[in-house]
Parts: sequence; C-alpha cells; structure tokens
Amino acid sequence: MPIFNSNPSQPFVKLLEKIFSVCYYVPRFITAKGIVSTFFWLPADYNVKSFNKHAALDLIRFSGDGISRTDLADQMGLTRAAVSLIVKELLESNVVQEAESRSAPSGRPPIVLAINPKGGLVGAIDMGATHMTVALADFAAIIHREMESPLDIKDGPEICLAKAEQILHRMLEQEGLTTAHLSAVGVGVPGPVITEAGMVVAPPIMPGWDRYPIRASLEKIWNCPVTLNNDAELGALGEWAYGAGRGEKNIAYIKVGSGVGAGLILNKQIYGGTTGAAGEIGHLTIDENGPLCNCGNHGCLEAFAGGHAIAKQGQALAKSGKRTLLADLPAEKITALEVAEAARRGDLHAQEILRRSGTYIGIAIAGLINLFNPSVVIIGGGVAQVGDMLTTPIRQAVRERAMRASEQGVRITAAMLGRRSVLMGAIVQAVNVAIHAAAENRNSTSKAVLMEPFEVN
Ligand SMILES: [Zn+2]
Repeated sequence: MPIFNSNPSQPFVKLLEKIFSVCYYVPRFITAKGIVSTFFWLPADYNVKSFNKHAALDLIRFSGDGISRTDLADQMGLTRAAVSLIVKELLESNVVQEAESRSAPSGRPPIVLAINPKGGLVGAIDMGATHMTVALADFAAIIHREMESPLDIKDGPEICLAKAEQILHRMLEQEGLTTAHLSAVGVGVPGPVITEAGMVVAPPIMPGWDRYPIRASLEKIWNCPVTLNNDAELGALGEWAYGAGRGEKNIAYIKVGSGVGAGLILNKQIYGGTTGAAGEIGHLTIDENGPLCNCGNHGCLEAFAGGHAIAKQGQALAKSGKRTLLADLPAEKITALEVAEAARRGDLHAQEILRRSGTYIGIAIAGLINLFNPSVVIIGGGVAQVGDMLTTPIRQAVRERAMRASEQGVRITAAMLGRRSVLMGAIVQAVNVAIHAAAENRNSTSKAVLMEPFEVN
C-alpha cells in the first residue's frame, strides 16, 4: 500500500504540498461488495464520504463516454442513495456534469455523468531531447491548443523552461486568458525524476539539469501546482488513460525517441522505482563490446536502437557507396527521420537498419516481459511512428525469446495516441491535482473557463 494519510487533522496546506509531490497515487479500496476500485488522490479532510467522492470522480473521469448513477453504484458497491448524494456534491462543485449517453442502443438516451470540460484549464509540457510540445487542455482532457517546437535539452533548464513558459503564455493570450486561469501544469522530462523533490537526478542526456528545482521554479512562475514526471512514465499513463492500455492492470510503454526508455504501470500504479530510475530499458547491455552509449557504458540497447543510433547508421550508410536513397543527402543532416523516410520509399538498406533496431528492442522487451509479465506492451515515441517496419521485428524477437507463459498473454501494439502519449499523460497528471482540489470547492468557479472544446486530431 502506498502512502496513506489517514490523519484528518493535518493542516490542509502541508498535506497539499505532500500530495502535489506524489507522482501518481492510487490507493485501492474494497467496498461492501468486495469490488476493488482505484483512485488517485485523497482529500485533506479525509473521511469515508469524501473518500468515496474522490473515488467516484476518478471512475467518472476514466469511464470513456460517461457513466450512469446505477453503474457507478454497482462499481463502487454503494446504494443508489449514497451515490446520489456524492453525485450531487460533484455537480455542485462544477467538475462533473450530466450528459446524454452516446452509446445507448435505442430509444431515449440515458443520462450519464461526465467531466465538465468547462470546469477548468490545465497546461501540459512534454520535453524531449530535441523537441518540446506544449498544450492547453480542459478538465475533460480535451486539447484546445497545442504547439510543437524544436528544443535542445542540453541548453539547460533556464533556456528550456523559459521557452516553455513563453509558448504557454502565448497560448493563454490567444484564448484571451492569463496564468490566473491555469489550475495546474503537468510536465514530462527525459530523465529520472525524484518526484518528491520535483527534480531530475543524474540525467544522462540532460546536462545542467541535475537537481535543478524544476517544479519549484515553475510553481513560482505559474502560481499553481506543477507535476513533474519522467516522459516514458507519462507515456504509459497517457496510453493507460486514453489509449492502447485502457482498462489494463499491467502495462509497459516503450518510448523509442532519440533514446529508448520504458514506463511501467504495475497493478494500475506507475512504477518509478526507489529513485525514479526504473524503466531504463535503453541501458540494458545488449553487447558488452558494443558501441559507446551516452551513459558511459558500451553496448547498451540505446546505442544500437535509439534515434541517435539509427541516425549514425544512416550516416554511415550514406557514405558507404551502397545503393541507397540516403546517398543523395549530406551525411551530417541525416537523422532517424530521413532513414525512416528512405525505408518507407523502399530503400532496402534503410529498412535493414530499422529491422535491426526493432530486433534489438524486441530482445530487450522479451527480457522485460519475462520479468514483469505485462498484458500489453505499447511502442511509442518519435521513431515508433514508422509503424510496422519497427513493430514487426519487435514482435518476432519477443515471440522467439520470451518465455511462453508470458509471451502468450501479451499484446504488443503501437501507441494509440501516436506522438501524444506523453503529452496526454502530462494532462492526466495536471487534471488529477486540479480536479480533486476543485471537487472540494462547491459552487466555486473562480478558475473555470468558457471555451468551445475541439477534438484531439
Ligand atoms: Zn547506456
């Protein structure tokens, strides 16, 4: 059982500080009917009633197209009357609204409960090694504005965070809003995050970021709670909430970008490890005599199969004199993108580079499957956008190498949210802190915003 604060007398602010420092918090409760449910956050004035209120809020949040009062009562093992009281409070706090079910077979559609998108607004920042995506989303996790911008994470925290701040400010301006409208901001970074401290420690590809107070400095700028997580963790969370991992208990998300990382959700909780460094699948040794890796070791998976490694192999191919589309490009400009594009256009040598990468990633995933026995492994990240050219050799390597008991129960699939898995995970985290706090404020619309939502495309 994770941290479980059952002392209702603890001052609210203290507890909030503690809560906002917890990355992803899923205590489970067993109801009268013995049904196990999950939720993310406990209110400060914890008692049985508000405990159930926050659990109900999460069931509504992740129900997809909304959930009826009857289904809510069934899932929570509570009476209709008890659920009605909880729902009344949630409706009064403006975070939940009634809507007509879209999935009713025929006749008059039943009324379901859904998150009120106009309940509030959050910011989300997905920082990668070479790109950053910033978004504004509402409480229903619908993205209103989104912008991708090139970034060099090696520029350090001051430059990178200032850039994110600028973009977010511009987006708010475009909506006619200010930072005062932000209820929370979720941030993902490509390094091991100490969640309690809101910083990264010894990140291999983020020089200058070691122990920089990322969360504290952003909270000062935006004057609202900020969550900080590792990017692959957020990818797992995003896919679990809205993508290929919905409803699953144990999932692994593999982010194949410039590097390779894994986010693990075990028993419906993010597994970050003791120091936030779990999931570093990119630094599994594939060949002890292999190429030098960013981490200082030789022959890590990342040095064979990440975006950087693919780019290097593409550059070598361009200079090799072999028949390849890459020979037409200046070698130093070749990135994983160019290799993928050449492969897509039928370049056999470029296809071979991707096949080899996929095989190495598959070998590492087979090990991960043997260790954790997940029900789904989701392949995401920029390089994974090439699709089958990478996932087919991954599946083959897993079939050949994982133990049968694990291999037979696992589905290996591309990320359903595409490039947005991490961004959506950051939105889940930001909405998480914002919506549960808002659920405690009945009749409060101080930060509520009125915007016309549009779908994520
Ligand atoms: Zn390494």
